[in-house]
Amino acid sequence: MATPHEPAASMSMCDVAIVGGGMVGASLAVALEGMGLKIALIEPVPHDAAAQPSFDERTTALSNGSRRVLETLGVWSEVASAATPIRRIHVSDRGHFGFARIDAAEQGLDALGVVVPNRVLGRALFGALEPRADFELHCPARVTGLTAGPDSVELSVASADGNTQAVRARLVVAADGAGSAVRAAFGVPAEVRDYEQTAVITTVTPRKFHEHVAYERFTESGPLALLPTTQGRCVLVLTVKPDRAAEIMGWSDAQFLAEVQRRFGYRLGRFLQAGRRVAYPLALSRSLKTSAHRCVIVGNAAQGLHPVAGMGFNLGLRDVASLAELLAARSGEAGDPTLLSEYDAWRAADRRLIIAFTDGLVRLFANPLAPVHHLRNLGLLAFDLFPPAKSALSALSTGAAGRVPKLARGVALERRAPLERDARVRDPALLRAPGAAP
Ligand SMILES: Cc1cc2nc3c(=O)[nH]c(=O)nc-3n(C[C@H](O)[C@H](O)[C@H](O)COP(=O)(O)OP(=O)(O)OC[C@H]3O[C@@H](n4cnc5c(N)ncnc54)[C@H](O)[C@@H]3O)c2cc1C
Repeated sequence: MATPHEPAASMSMCDVAIVGGGMVGASLAVALEGMGLKIALIEPVPHDAAAQPSFDERTTALSNGSRRVLETLGVWSEVASAATPIRRIHVSDRGHFGFARIDAAEQGLDALGVVVPNRVLGRALFGALEPRADFELHCPARVTGLTAGPDSVELSVASADGNTQAVRARLVVAADGAGSAVRAAFGVPAEVRDYEQTAVITTVTPRKFHEHVAYERFTESGPLALLPTTQGRCVLVLTVKPDRAAEIMGWSDAQFLAEVQRRFGYRLGRFLQAGRRVAYPLALSRSLKTSAHRCVIVGNAAQGLHPVAGMGFNLGLRDVASLAELLAARSGEAGDPTLLSEYDAWRAADRRLIIAFTDGLVRLFANPLAPVHHLRNLGLLAFDLFPPAKSALSALSTGAAGRVPKLARGVALERRAPLERDARVRDPALLRAPGAAP
């Protein structure tokens, strides 16, 4: 990303510029609707385009907390008919004795979570983002440069037709994914560790009905997850070494299904059909800070996780719900350092816990040493026999570490009438020229 920005043909003013309209950025735009804040959302790939990197072929396992956020934001009704509940989770270690189960009914829940197709989520979120006085969608367009001043940040937004526009914002939200150029432009480094694993994603149709059970099976080359989805199919997330993934991507369906059967066994009978395969290289990326001067970093831009426990988007949605709650309470302070430090403090515990849990799980089950195998099998058995541990895990997946945001508790945020556009322009903070870098 170039800094300073290229000359722009026109200037638009806003309170919050969200860079990245993937799952997290689009959710934030919906959450900030009607708060009296002028919002700009900048995204290079339309949500329904085949090349959209966030709303793609994948499905996402949503925790009950995330589902509640979407319900409170009024988008759940557009997702519900494509959602499949998870009523039980079964965890096992291939070739070893240990296994563990978590049952929704035992936890007093109807479901432990739901599985939703990413594309359906994209349609629902963008469906809620109708053009309105307090919302500007720049799509297809990307941020190509930024200059930060004391009271605002000026973004260069290049649209697909070759025009460049300046967007000046009191607060910039970096929601542009794990390789976030916005985070880098604000001088915030990220720690990246390549897991040297690739997730091959597809759907498979087993002979037996999945009965709403999600399976997590740890194998010698990485975890294999089967999540229940519609029409009796299961979403398969097969994690393998990158060179193996390259081979697997070239296999026939029959060859692929035989391999899945070998790794998973016959608990669901024979696998009959496979869908299209897509491969995702896996890494842990963790931004060293969650804010910078007039910038907040959310979702994958703040933390890109291994999908083993299905927690990345759930964590990102809690970033969204927390930030929206702070902005709803103090909308006049978008970009204010006090609000940003409050955001950092709020997100720290949840973020630390989920990153450590996910990364720990990957490392524990990737360890080939026999004593470690033995201990983790004992651990799984102990977990299976110890109800408080299961309650703790199901609480963890709902984001129970620290303060739970209102939206995740089903409490709507305070809305105000949208401010008029010319009222924004009269804001002296927005009219000040951008100055030195932060
Ligand atoms: C295989 C797999 C399975 C997963 N399963 C689950 C699951 O079951 N449950 C769960 O909770 N999580 C899951 N995750 C994690 C989840 O997908 C991510 O947490 C989520 O995609 C994060 O969304 P995001 O919007 O932060 O980032 P992204 O999805 O990376 O979106 C970033 C957006 O920013 C845009 N962008 C990039 N550069 C620019 C720019 N310069 N200007 C403007 N916009 C830009 C991109 O086009 C994109 O739309 C899974 C991940 C993988 C890889």
